[in-house]
Amino acid sequence: MKKISPEVTDYLIIGGGLAGCVLAWTLVRRGMRCRLVDTPLLSNASRISAGIINPISGKRFSLLWDADRVVSKAQSVYAALEEQFRQSFLRSIPALRLFTDQEEHDVWFAKRSQTITFTDYVPREHVSERFSQDFGGISYTAWHVEVEAVVMRLRAWLRDEGCLVEEEFIEEHLHFATNEVLYAAHDKQIHAKYVVMCNGWKALHSALWRDLPLSPAKGELLTVRAEAPPLQELVVKNVFLLPLGHTIVRIGASYSWEHLDETPTPETAQMLLRKAQEIFPVPMTILRHDAGVRPAAQDSKPILGVHPRETRCAIMNGFGSKGAVYTPFCAESLVDFLELGTPLAEWCALTRWKAWR
Ligand SMILES: Cc1cc2nc3c(=O)[nH]c(=O)nc-3n(C[C@H](O)[C@H](O)[C@H](O)COP(=O)(O)OP(=O)(O)OC[C@H]3O[C@@H](n4cnc5c(N)ncnc54)[C@H](O)[C@@H]3O)c2cc1C
Repeated sequence: MKKISPEVTDYLIIGGGLAGCVLAWTLVRRGMRCRLVDTPLLSNASRISAGIINPISGKRFSLLWDADRVVSKAQSVYAALEEQFRQSFLRSIPALRLFTDQEEHDVWFAKRSQTITFTDYVPREHVSERFSQDFGGISYTAWHVEVEAVVMRLRAWLRDEGCLVEEEFIEEHLHFATNEVLYAAHDKQIHAKYVVMCNGWKALHSALWRDLPLSPAKGELLTVRAEAPPLQELVVKNVFLLPLGHTIVRIGASYSWEHLDETPTPETAQMLLRKAQEIFPVPMTILRHDAGVRPAAQDSKPILGVHPRETRCAIMNGFGSKGAVYTPFCAESLVDFLELGTPLAEWCALTRWKAWR
């Protein structure tokens, strides 16, 4: 019989999307060891993400949770990654949110008068001449992260460091003891202090985590060539138009809570194209069409913490449509929590739900 030599590590991470990769990088930077188990074919949210960091979103103009801290953490982490890998991942981009109707216009002005922090993020109401619309809009700064490039780069780095285990994780092979967790599968035995589940919406298939209040949403995106002078700003009105350089524009994204699969559909492509052309009425040629499933929590906030029964099993999930901005802050917070006992911010703690205390 083949002899298996046990491996000892600090953290076993399950899932190598943006969450798992950023967590692995954070741990190594803080002097810890990790193994990341991932097979990229089980969920592709990070590989198709539009990567927009929008400080204000939704019908009710919601500001990001803990906006100052999460945005500055994201900026510093992507800057550190850029320096380490000599590759560009983050850019700021002027954004224009157009009001869809009078109600949206009124909601904005009512909210702006009550929320002092908005002035830091939205300096002015303004609409450029190219998009003069009936109800006006707001201008502000957003950011764009090349999420797929970050994930590909971090995966390659983890592989070089001997930290990447490229295979499907089987939960039945996980065994918990008081002070450690053992993953005994196929030809390996990995002993770790903690296992952290970063498996996106596939957490719903886990015996330990399937009751998590997740509400995954399928989303589709188009990449098109727009036959017009290049767009200069990210434009948002029902859908977004994200300029990628020259005349290439990303259009997204749809939301569907049924049929959770990663198959693009022609009807959704037509819907996105029609809505995009209502804003930017120029000929467009579809170059690429992607679909994925956002791992969204029911209250649209990230989920961090440890399992109430299996306290060696942690989770970092629930990034929904905001993984690009929240993962750097959440990775740091989770490591502080597990290593130093620093309490998690209430808005992203698993224990905000009674059943998970
Ligand atoms: C259409 C669309 C547009 C989006 N646009 C934006 C945007 O503009 N801005 C933004 O911030 N976010 C956006 N998002 C959301 C963003 O993609 C997610 O928040 C983020 O990618 C989630 O990362 P994750 O690592 O938690 O999950 P995932 O990317 O789903 O990664 C999970 C990983 O775990 C692996 N895995 C699962 N089960 C197993 C197993 N049993 N064994 C081994 N591996 C396993 C999967 O294969 C995958 O690699 C968008 C998402 C979609 C679908």
